[in-house]
Amino acid sequence: MTETNFTYRRFEDSDRTTTDRDITKKWGEEPISIGESYACPTYVHKTPPCQGSCPSGHDIRGWLSIVRGIDTPPEGLTMQEYAFQRMVMSNPFPAVMGRVCPAPCEGGCNRNQLEDFVGINSIEQYIGDWAIEHNFSLPAPGPDTGKKVAVVGSGPAGLAAAYFLRLLGHGVTLFEEYDKLGGMMVYGIPGYRTPRDVLNAEIQRILDMGVEVKASTRVGRDISMDQLTKDYDAIFWGIGTPDGRGVPVKGAENAPNCTDAMSFLRAFNNGKLQYLAGRILVIGAGDSAMDVVAVAKRIGQLDNVKAEDLPENVILGKTEHDPALAAQRKPSDSWIIYRRPISEAPCTPHELKAVIEEGVEIHDSLSPLEVMLDENGRARALKVAPVEMVDGQMVAQEDKAYEIECSMIVAATGQTGDYTGLEELNNGRNLIDSDATYQVVAKPGQFAAGDAIRPHLLTTAIGQASVAVEGIHDYLNSKEISKRPKVDKHHFKIAEELARHNLSPEKYEQKAGTHGTFEAKFAIHNYDDRSSAEVISHEDLYLGHFEYNPINHRDEVELNATQVLSNFEERFKVLSDEKAQKEADRCMSCGMCFECDNCVIFCPQDAIFRVSKDEHAIGRYVATDYAKCVGCHICQDVCPTGYINMGLGAY
Ligand SMILES: Cc1cc2nc3c(=O)[nH]c(=O)nc-3n(C[C@H](O)[C@H](O)[C@H](O)COP(=O)(O)OP(=O)(O)OC[C@H]3O[C@@H](n4cnc5c(N)ncnc54)[C@H](O)[C@@H]3O)c2cc1C
Ligand code: SF4
Ligand code: SF4
Repeated sequence: MTETNFTYRRFEDSDRTTTDRDITKKWGEEPISIGESYACPTYVHKTPPCQGSCPSGHDIRGWLSIVRGIDTPPEGLTMQEYAFQRMVMSNPFPAVMGRVCPAPCEGGCNRNQLEDFVGINSIEQYIGDWAIEHNFSLPAPGPDTGKKVAVVGSGPAGLAAAYFLRLLGHGVTLFEEYDKLGGMMVYGIPGYRTPRDVLNAEIQRILDMGVEVKASTRVGRDISMDQLTKDYDAIFWGIGTPDGRGVPVKGAENAPNCTDAMSFLRAFNNGKLQYLAGRILVIGAGDSAMDVVAVAKRIGQLDNVKAEDLPENVILGKTEHDPALAAQRKPSDSWIIYRRPISEAPCTPHELKAVIEEGVEIHDSLSPLEVMLDENGRARALKVAPVEMVDGQMVAQEDKAYEIECSMIVAATGQTGDYTGLEELNNGRNLIDSDATYQVVAKPGQFAAGDAIRPHLLTTAIGQASVAVEGIHDYLNSKEISKRPKVDKHHFKIAEELARHNLSPEKYEQKAGTHGTFEAKFAIHNYDDRSSAEVISHEDLYLGHFEYNPINHRDEVELNATQVLSNFEERFKVLSDEKAQKEADRCMSCGMCFECDNCVIFCPQDAIFRVSKDEHAIGRYVATDYAKCVGCHICQDVCPTGYINMGLGAY
């Protein structure tokens, strides 16, 4: 390609066929296949799969490039504060996420194609903890818009909505039924997984942005839905699914010692439940089940518990345990009863492994048939039958049924919403129906997110809240609610990056002869932002560039059956500064230049050059001299990150 006065047109997928390059380059393969095309390099930004898999839409590649030192902080900011600022664009809870998010981002990471994923979650914890330790604030609220939004529910969905609304300058009143804020982060997930000082620090940062809080106030009981619609310009519903489902077995209906995971965990997290009175059977094998058995192992059991102090009386709110008796705890006998083989358990594998090490007994392929009651109406045993596969169906072998003695049965078989006083929101399945922008169906100005829509994860509730707030913003500005992009994430924006370096393109002025030039300064040249439409696959990278480099795990407290009793220490230890940077350095920067110089070194025409230091920004490290480029596509072949595509000038 020697012509310089070509006409620019967008790079299209079909342009790929103008090269003869095999795009999948694995270890040990020759990276370059001989060929020539009529296309020159263009720089194409795509979404990395880690970000594509993160329900909050974190700019993971962006904050990893800060931690590893490619993206340097502006003057006056530390690396950690700069990374924190990038993280909280998407999610204001990095320290909580860094501990309890099951990290679907890591499952999606392209580095799994080499040796192992990048430890994204542990770096999130590192930055989150650093931010708390150094008292970092969230960004300042936007200029006051004069609009008021009611946020109902203070779980991750409600708190994130409050945060994103304040960023846009809207007034927020947060209504919460309980006295403590945090939803399942405080009443569901035990404190040794989300330490309360960490959680409270991240919540306080949001409140410090100027959020009015009405705790111990249930909407639908203490204030009506009608009143909210009169008093506020919009409503956000983040009311979750607070109730557990009861033990789904005949005989359990009136037995006081048959309960559900939510009631059990709430009593523990309130500090009221301090010990058990004998064997506990937990039905189910999801994450809530793992939390119940892990708590049971920690609080242990006492012998000869008085009738009035039995754990069910605490769970039913009739009494509270005396914490002084905790000193007499003995190891508890905690069992998981699961209908399927445990290999099919829906819980995080890591949690299952931990509870087994802590001494929990797993009894799988067992179907609960009936709760056997004693003369006082308490459950004394669970009748179960082994399950066998017959013609592809799971069939309980009732002729082989037997009883398992117990002192408590906990169902961890799902949660449901409480719509008392809010009946008009209930879609009939104790959830709220909303559209793709999270606007409640047939209720303009009302939005909903989190478990109330579909029970999932903390990060999901936060990601949905962020989208819902954009809808609320449009609604409050009397605009049509914007359509969502195909890849709906918090993308890196090169225009903002250039502005940060005072490199924004000049204002466009219509002049003769401005077409077909790369010298004019009114455009971002040879850059194509496809991040809202495409996730970059490992097949588009040159993996041969990367050497074997094992993951740097954070240290973990592993407890055995003896050590677990009364041990409420948290499991994950934060990474050191050095390890965090080493781990971030494993990121392959999928879909974005990471300044490796391969293209500059390997271009036989010397057509690719580094831009001058004063023109440098992330995504703007190299440029092409199109007078020299012959379209050999070597730069594309040796680009490890898939950022170079042969597209420019093809016709
Ligand atoms: C035991 C357990 C363990 C879990 N572990 C994990 C984990 O490790 N990692 C993970 O990512 N996810 C985990 N989850 C899932 C996660 O907790 C939820 O997906 C998340 O909390 C949902 O957030 P939310 O804000 O939608 O609802 P919630 O967190 O349930 O918050 C809803 C809030 O609304 C309040 N509320 C309800 N109705 C009203 C009303 N009418 N008026 C005022 N306030 C009201 C409730 O009191 C509550 O505070 C776990 C869930 C459970 C139950
Ligand atoms: S919130 Fe979860 S999925 Fe998103 S980056 Fe953090 S660990 Fe990964
Ligand atoms: S290598 Fe980096 S950019 Fe690529 S998917 Fe993994 S964490 Fe994301």
